[in-house]
Amino acid sequence: MHIPKILLLIQAGIFGLILGSFLNVLIYRLPQSMSILGRSYCPHCRAQIPFYRNVPLVSYLLQWGKSACCQKKISPQYPLIEALTGFVSVVTVMHAETLPQYFIWFLLFMCPLIVISVIDFQLKIIPDVISVPFIIVGLMVQQFEHYPEWWAGLKFSGLGLLIGGGFLLLFAEVMSRLLKKEAMGGGDIKLMAMLGAFLGPKSLIFIYIAGSMLALVYAVFGRILNKHQDRQIPFGPFLSMAGMLFWFYREQIIERINPVIDFYAGVFFS
Ligand SMILES: [Zn+2]
Repeated sequence: MHIPKILLLIQAGIFGLILGSFLNVLIYRLPQSMSILGRSYCPHCRAQIPFYRNVPLVSYLLQWGKSACCQKKISPQYPLIEALTGFVSVVTVMHAETLPQYFIWFLLFMCPLIVISVIDFQLKIIPDVISVPFIIVGLMVQQFEHYPEWWAGLKFSGLGLLIGGGFLLLFAEVMSRLLKKEAMGGGDIKLMAMLGAFLGPKSLIFIYIAGSMLALVYAVFGRILNKHQDRQIPFGPFLSMAGMLFWFYREQIIERINPVIDFYAGVFFS
């Protein structure tokens, strides 16, 4: 790969912005079970948006955050998600070893996690339409990463899937028995199974701890700023964020996790 680094980062950023505007469509339409195909239209007056007014980020800025058709305010969520996707794309290309690896992980891992996170933030649900198929995609991606040792890939991914989903299922069962109400949504469990399938069993320790800490920070800040009208804090976005962080720093994190696992393996199996 002989594209100058800065050019590569710019291209990844633009690609991310474009993908982000497609993710906006998914985030808007998936929970309403609407078709994800078909032209973009204004959510206020239903007028079709011509392609030249649908340029990620640029259109929003040029139109001062108002729609061209009916001059209504466009939610800042649209440009924010475009910018976020662009940012995630740049960070992904920086942490990928090859260009195919960047495309695979950005398109099949980062993008679904962004969609899941935003929908979970807004509606407190994680649609099965995304998490369940991407459990299978995770299994396939690890086949690719471990090629030609398909058995190793299947073991890595399968163990992650089972431990990720199983551990949370057990935890949710125990907690709901203790609290006598549903402690954790089934959506979180499927998301954890998806993360396990993509990232393998060792990642789960990090994702669980880092995800809980991020959620705690959010809860504390929310309480201080008193911005939560509702008490329910979605767990999905923080698990997703931890999953992304794990992939970015996978080598460094695994290096630190291995001694811990060896230690406990020594305690339990010697
Ligand atoms: Zn309009």
